[in-house]
Amino acid sequence: MSLLEIKNLTTSFATEQGKVQAVRGISLSVEQGEIVGIVGESGSGKSQSMYSVMGLLSENGTIESGSILFDGQEISPVQFDGNAAAYEKLMEGIRGNSMSMIFQDPMSFLNPVLTIEKQLVEPLKNHKKMSAAELHQKAVELLTQVGIPSPEERLKQYPHQLSGGMRQRVIIAIALACNPKLIIADEPTTALDVTIQAKIIELIKELKEKTGSGVILITHDLGVVASACSRVYIMYGGKIVETGLADEIYYQPQHPYTSGLLACVNNPEEDTELRPIPGSPPDLIKPPAGCPFVDRCDKAMKICKMKMPPERKLSDTHAVCCWLTEKPASGKEGE
Ligand code: SF4
Ligand code: MG
Repeated sequence: MSLLEIKNLTTSFATEQGKVQAVRGISLSVEQGEIVGIVGESGSGKSQSMYSVMGLLSENGTIESGSILFDGQEISPVQFDGNAAAYEKLMEGIRGNSMSMIFQDPMSFLNPVLTIEKQLVEPLKNHKKMSAAELHQKAVELLTQVGIPSPEERLKQYPHQLSGGMRQRVIIAIALACNPKLIIADEPTTALDVTIQAKIIELIKELKEKTGSGVILITHDLGVVASACSRVYIMYGGKIVETGLADEIYYQPQHPYTSGLLACVNNPEEDTELRPIPGSPPDLIKPPAGCPFVDRCDKAMKICKMKMPPERKLSDTHAVCCWLTEKPASGKEGE
């Protein structure tokens, strides 16, 4: 049994312009002790799919359908049949406890007027019964675990007294506090400079080894994924368009969008930041009937506009949704 198994998740947002179909029927899984990457440009649905899992969608967001099995338990609100209170109660017990999140921007997540210690022990107070002395001891351990020197002094400080890299370490310590089985890291290094980014990714890898947690790493940067993840899901236009082992994605990408992302990373003339592929993502208020990438794809064929390509399995681990990998049935080429 997988640690997390998502099937056919669809999430939408009500807006003044209409319903935005942000996540469109995605399926993915994470095993205990593995780091899985979800990669895509902003607006691809990668963060919203994980906010759906955590029950952290904004008020105008709804999970329309799908199953989310976490550690053997169904946690999709769809299964609660309108009983929002029961769903909230379940998620309050899970969030920050067996499942936790590392957010992109430490400054907006940390409370500027509370000490590091107060913020660090908060999930422990919510989920575990511990005495004041035990809480303090655990806070010291957590800072040590994430590589912050002089923890006793740091605990008394406020977020603005720490560097950006240290603040992100504190966020990671908060996420680790209750020994979660699954950690979801949403662009954890985007706000940091490059050398600190590498250190934070190293830290996440090390902690995964030590704790055996499953980790989902959400990023727009395939370079980050290369150094950390065993498997990767590529998202575009609310859909997973390719998935595979990190090596399969790097050395045998099959989807033109994946190749486009890789071309940006591999070009030594460019910095590691992804250069956007020309064109813009599809309007998810009126999602395209066919392949979401069709307007930006230089290999597009007639059929691409009309029909969504089915998922084609290329190996036990590698799958892609692109008409290029479909063998045309006799006489139907260019349909
Ligand atoms: Fe390009 Fe067609 Fe493949 Fe979509 S299905 S990525 S448009 S070739
Ligand atoms: Mg995001």
